[in-house]
Amino acid sequence: GLADRLQNTIQKIRGKGKVTEQDVKEMMREVRLALLEADVNFKVVKDFVKRVSERAVGQEVMKSLTPGQQVIKVVKEELTNLMGGEQSKIAVSNRPPTVIMMVGLQGAGKTTTTGKLANLLRKKNNRKPLLVAADIYRPAAIKQLETLGKQLSMPVFSLGDQVSPVEIAKQAIQKAKEDHHDYVLIDTAGRLHVDEALMDELKQVKEISQPDEIFLVVDAMTGQDAVNVAQSFNEQLGLTGVVLTKLDGDTRGGAALSVKAVTNTPIKFVGLGEKLDAIEAFHPERMASRILGMGDVLSLIEKAQDNVDQEKAKELEQKLKTMNFTFDDFLDQLGQVKKMGPLNEILGMLPGANKIKGLKDVQVDDKQIAHVEAIIQSMTRAERDNPDLINASRKKRIAKGSGRPIQEVNRLLKQFEDMKKMMKQMTNMSKGKGKKGGFK
Ligand code: GDP
Ligand code: MG
Repeated sequence: GLADRLQNTIQKIRGKGKVTEQDVKEMMREVRLALLEADVNFKVVKDFVKRVSERAVGQEVMKSLTPGQQVIKVVKEELTNLMGGEQSKIAVSNRPPTVIMMVGLQGAGKTTTTGKLANLLRKKNNRKPLLVAADIYRPAAIKQLETLGKQLSMPVFSLGDQVSPVEIAKQAIQKAKEDHHDYVLIDTAGRLHVDEALMDELKQVKEISQPDEIFLVVDAMTGQDAVNVAQSFNEQLGLTGVVLTKLDGDTRGGAALSVKAVTNTPIKFVGLGEKLDAIEAFHPERMASRILGMGDVLSLIEKAQDNVDQEKAKELEQKLKTMNFTFDDFLDQLGQVKKMGPLNEILGMLPGANKIKGLKDVQVDDKQIAHVEAIIQSMTRAERDNPDLINASRKKRIAKGSGRPIQEVNRLLKQFEDMKKMMKQMTNMSKGKGKKGGFK
């Protein structure tokens, strides 16, 4: 993927004391290939490589004491710019309700994202949203939104599938005013492809509801196609933001890189799973770090703070920084991790995690966590503090004590070791980043 390719290239250049024009040229060739391979729009790649090359062979790099680091910094800054600079917020109308219209192709994640955004607006901004079921075409679309509404204990406005979306939108806004909702989220219909009938209808819904935001929901997995879709929706409706869904999947990330550049519409949120809290504000800088393999420690900490009490989150942050991480801590974290979401999603935010072979295949469910807990609980205190003590006969004892096969004990020891290695890598990286050692 993009991250791996860039990482290889960067590894080569990172330690260099002197970077020649030839080095830069070679690196840019790799960057160019990596971006194209990741499905980034051709023209976007061309401009990007041109900008980075100019800066890289310029004074700021060549005259620098650490040109290798400097090139990486330039690549990161330009990647960040490419994805739109600062993060974006949701509009607030001064004449409530604020209306948000969700558009996009079928299956992109509109309905799910409508639920997620409503959840976010309530949780983070203390808002009272009304969900509106205006997809009258997809079978069970109304039911789907109603189910989400039930899960969230939020009202869903629906007039069935015999009333036009335009009429639904109109009445929904009326209803929102009566019931003092401050946000109205209109879930609209999608098609498999952009077509005129769809656009005409969406234009009418826009006309009647005068939305403060029109969010295009795009599936990040669709790569280059996402850009084309974004372009036509933008031309027809005038988008105010993009939500990039399914970033938790095996996406190559090209969409994130080119959507903003091509449509000049900011990516505002990313979807990271099917659950209603699997949404995050889009942070271009963090995304750039992640692409470059520096990890996304800030998101990780934030996630921890959201789900775990503050004290615990601080502790985790400290542990991650100092790397004084024992099996006891691991055990302690497991309970917290269960609240934070899938373990592999969390590990994916750690720097260098994508380099650990097999990590992506680690699917941790509650049952497995229980097994891991059993294994750790069968270790002595000394073993938990110092896993190197665990020789063959101790392994046998632990396996017996936990009722788990010895291979599972081995696997856990290996995973724990990998995790420590990864954390060490993270400290080293943050040390290399100057005074505060933070990932900013
Ligand atoms: P719509 O047709 O645009 O309304 O799309 P839906 O909201 O019905 O979503 C289509 C499918 O994608 C559903 O199975 C969702 O659970 C799934 N989905 C939506 N967003 C995400 C996401 O961020 N990650 C993952 N993994 N799945 C998602
Ligand atoms: Mg839908």
